[in-house]
Amino acid sequence: MAHSILLTPGDGIGPEVIEETQRVLGWFRANRNLAFTTESAPIGGIAYETLGTPEPVETIAKAMKADAVLFGAVGGPKWDSLPFEKKPERGLLRLRKDLGLFANLRPALCFDALKDASTLKPEIVSGLDILIVRELTGGVYFGEPKETTTLADGQKRAVDTQVYTTHEIERIARVAFELARLRGKRVASAEKSNVMVTGVLWRQVVTAVHAKEFPDVQLSHVLADNCAMQLVRNPKQYDVIVTDNLFGDVLSDEAAQLTGSIGMLPSASLGAKDANGRQAALYEPIHGSAPDIAGQGLANPIACILSFAMALRYSFGRIEDAKLVESAVDRVLAEGFRTADIMQPGMTRVGTAAMTDAILKALDRLNQS
Ligand code: NAD
Repeated sequence: MAHSILLTPGDGIGPEVIEETQRVLGWFRANRNLAFTTESAPIGGIAYETLGTPEPVETIAKAMKADAVLFGAVGGPKWDSLPFEKKPERGLLRLRKDLGLFANLRPALCFDALKDASTLKPEIVSGLDILIVRELTGGVYFGEPKETTTLADGQKRAVDTQVYTTHEIERIARVAFELARLRGKRVASAEKSNVMVTGVLWRQVVTAVHAKEFPDVQLSHVLADNCAMQLVRNPKQYDVIVTDNLFGDVLSDEAAQLTGSIGMLPSASLGAKDANGRQAALYEPIHGSAPDIAGQGLANPIACILSFAMALRYSFGRIEDAKLVESAVDRVLAEGFRTADIMQPGMTRVGTAAMTDAILKALDRLNQS
């Protein structure tokens, strides 16, 4: 059965990095006996320009049918003054909502060749491979009431509401445990059960899901503030970290930045599994459309190529192929190839296409060995 991938290149460097990723995808088709069907569809600013909306219904419908969506980036100064419902970012929010993408996955992987570029000591980050699983559609960003009122004395009072249900916690916990089974089989659950009732419920529900469904995975609990500290003290103690929307927002940025440039960082967002085991999934580099370098052949394609590796691992169950992509990236970095954003003294500076050329050559060599 061929896997169907919908490509939504979007704006700025989005089309450039998606084009390079398509070359990698083509390599897997030709060399690893992987059957993919791909189709491209407009989203974001380009969709607004051509169709008058950043969220065309045809694109959303295609995304719902695809096995995975590979998303480039959207946005740019050209559209900054548009009303919110016409802004390019609307396209991404709509996809997240309509596909029910409640789990956000952000890996922090340290390539050996870049360990000296980290702000932490090389021995702390060398070999780092952790995954943050963040709940994406609940919690304090969405809870009601969410309002600002004016008090009798003229002061203002603003309220956000942190709210979680058993169901919301159970489904994100399941995603984390299932992913841990594909990795190091360890999950750390981060909350603030010492001061928040949502934290107490979070801990109870995660514990229950673990005991009933995932006894083969090791579970630990950590307070979210301690987790933030541990991530800079000894990040390698973690395999998978599962946490809520707010703490996940902070911890995933912290973990990702342990290891390098924004041009290197992939992400995935997953929905619930249906009765046939099918799961909506969107893979994307965490960077934006980088209007300052768009159209110049300077963008680092690695974040998007590693997003494809995540699709191989999490949507298509091709763990060895995902590792092959990661090893190829590791190898070209070790050989000294660098795009401008990760350039270091003494290394070979290359553009977008030349970086992909090097990755394809590394794939050839790894596949033969
Ligand atoms: P950005 O991530 O686009 O760029 C930040 C900086 O990082 C820039 O200097 C850029 O040149 C550099 N950079 C980013 N990706 C790179 C890559 N692959 N290779 C080399 N350098 C890279 O963030 P921004 O400048 O704040 O936002 C620009 C536009 O992108 C805005 O319209 C914003 O709304 C949008 N945006 C979209 C997404 C998305 O589509 N998911 C995410 C963030 C921002």
